[in-house]
Amino acid sequence: MSSRPAVLVMIPGVAADPELKARPAFRLVDEGAPQLRVTDLAATRGDGVFETVGVFDSRPANLTPHLERLQRSARMLDLPALDLDVLAQAVDAAVTAHLPVPELLVKIVVSRGVEGQSRPTAWVFADAAPSYAAARAGLRVAALDRGIPTTAPQTSPWLLAGAKSLSYAINMAGLREAARRGADEVLFVSSDGYALEGPTSTLLVKSGNRFLTTPVDAGVLPGTSLGSVFELVRGEGAEAAEELMTLAQVAEADGAWLLSSVRLACPITHLDDVELPVDRALTDRLSAAIAGRK
Ligand code: PLP
Repeated sequence: MSSRPAVLVMIPGVAADPELKARPAFRLVDEGAPQLRVTDLAATRGDGVFETVGVFDSRPANLTPHLERLQRSARMLDLPALDLDVLAQAVDAAVTAHLPVPELLVKIVVSRGVEGQSRPTAWVFADAAPSYAAARAGLRVAALDRGIPTTAPQTSPWLLAGAKSLSYAINMAGLREAARRGADEVLFVSSDGYALEGPTSTLLVKSGNRFLTTPVDAGVLPGTSLGSVFELVRGEGAEAAEELMTLAQVAEADGAWLLSSVRLACPITHLDDVELPVDRALTDRLSAAIAGRK
């Protein structure tokens, strides 16, 4: 018997719209049993949205910002409004049903539903997190051109830049290209020459007493981890701001990190061939803030 079962919760009542709402709102199901129709648009078109929440000592970190961002992504994809209370209860049910482990990750997925049915499919999946020790120790990062400018959200909103959609095949292809270049991770760069974000992470740069990140309106995802980090550093008297940065500016920084909810603050040790300084004590404090272990 596995000592750490994964947990799956299906959420038929995910839509806020009473016409689409189903009873029961959610139910725990066997994660080993088939659940998705082959014609679900999650499978056939990657048409949906998702979130990955870090759970530390059985407490989901930043759950409300994650749910609000899921709602934002759903709005960007013209999906029905979501019932965030039902989603929060489903996350709670998944965490409670899992054996207690120090680090759990919970995925919340909402697809447009089965082709032709106009009713979203939603589920929550909880599983023990793998070890992120290597990434947390430091990352060699390859800068890759994303091929779209920072103006894309304004000129071409249908590209869904900044939505956390299920269409992550491009992001994963970026990671494989990084591996081919001998790197662990990616920093995407806009076609007009600005640092954007990682395939599943937010860029944080330290320059003197200033902590900087890419502006959300340049087409990056608004990071929940970044929210925790900005709150921490502002509380300590530092400046925290959104600012467009060139790759050269990132390479000259006093420190740079890729932030995400499950891997926490991962220091960038190398950006292509340039070595960056790493402050371990600061990195640990940033990670503790993201995990809610302040
Ligand atoms: N940017 C992208 C494209 C992501 O997919 C993610 C998370 O997966 C992030 C940034 C970091 O977001 P968060 O800090 O909320 O995990």
